[in-house]
Amino acid sequence: MIDLRSDTVTKPSPAMRMAMAQAEVGDDVYGEDPTINGFEARVAKLLGHEAGLFCSSGSQANQLGLRLHVRAGTDLLTEWTAHIVRAEVGAAARLSGVTTRTWRGERGLVDLAQIDELIAPRFSPYLLATAAIAVENTHNFGGGTIQPLPVLQQLRRLADERGLTLHLDGARLWNAHIETGVPLEIYGRLFDTVSVCFSKGLGAPVGSMLVGSREAIAQARIDRKMLGGGMRQAGILAAAAEYALDHHLPDLAIDHRHAQILAAAIADADPRVTVPEHSETNIVVLDLAHSALDTNSLVAAAAEKSVLVSALGPRLARLVTHRDVTAEQVDQAADVLSGLLRAPAGG
Ligand SMILES: *Cc1c(COP(=O)(O)O)cnc(C)c1O
Repeated sequence: MIDLRSDTVTKPSPAMRMAMAQAEVGDDVYGEDPTINGFEARVAKLLGHEAGLFCSSGSQANQLGLRLHVRAGTDLLTEWTAHIVRAEVGAAARLSGVTTRTWRGERGLVDLAQIDELIAPRFSPYLLATAAIAVENTHNFGGGTIQPLPVLQQLRRLADERGLTLHLDGARLWNAHIETGVPLEIYGRLFDTVSVCFSKGLGAPVGSMLVGSREAIAQARIDRKMLGGGMRQAGILAAAAEYALDHHLPDLAIDHRHAQILAAAIADADPRVTVPEHSETNIVVLDLAHSALDTNSLVAAAAEKSVLVSALGPRLARLVTHRDVTAEQVDQAADVLSGLLRAPAGG
């Protein structure tokens, strides 16, 4: 099977398993796991922040971040297809009482004009005031979209002018960094808190991190324990994540090339289904609005031919390239999918 459903499906390599087996560990709830402590400090520094908290998932890292920003009487702004509102099962509202209003971004992009309009000032005790803005980079459901650095810099200025804080859902910030060459620290410093995932394209089995100020992370550590996320000898997991960071980061460029090959083949078969220039990193979004196949038929037909595709909606599907898909498999998947999606002659 050529599994293009997600970059989360990668499996730990023998060398990564060796690193896990050899990790020094301790009780992390007591703050005594040397592998975790070292890794938290390292990743925080890499992203230009004071402290880090190793988390079991990206959702956990995001949700621990968001609850730091938004108190009662305030709200959060984000893009309407953001992972935090579309794919974290309502956690911000359910776990932290966070209410959210959304802008509608082109492929998930930050839209400064809409944000400016949405920001509610602190005006009276009975009117909600905006406290924070959350941005996703790269943007998953937008199609792996990279947020342009100048726009993020303008967003920071806007937030400072209006007294707001910023959270970055950087589950795939690694991909943006590899594609643009913008240093991670430059991206990281623009935000008050940042989450990153090691279990996406980097290929670790488990693990994400939230970084921020020392005080913010101290509070997030308490909140993580409250929500049942305290871990004990989890240095085994941090060792896998650290191995991924040390050895797999540059390989993301290969995933990006592979996504281009898929997008180009499919656009060649039917240009209405995908626009290759929109696949900026490792994700290809398939718009099946005008196709003979709807999502379920495409998923089933592709699976018959050993290609697994992710269903995002009745006529919306997604391909994600990752390190466990080889160049030959990409070519094979490109043949299968372009064959299935080829527009009928004259149609
Ligand atoms: C995958 C992902 C996350 C985290 O997902 P988990 O499954 O909770 O690790 C967060 N944000 C984005 C944009 C993602 O793609």
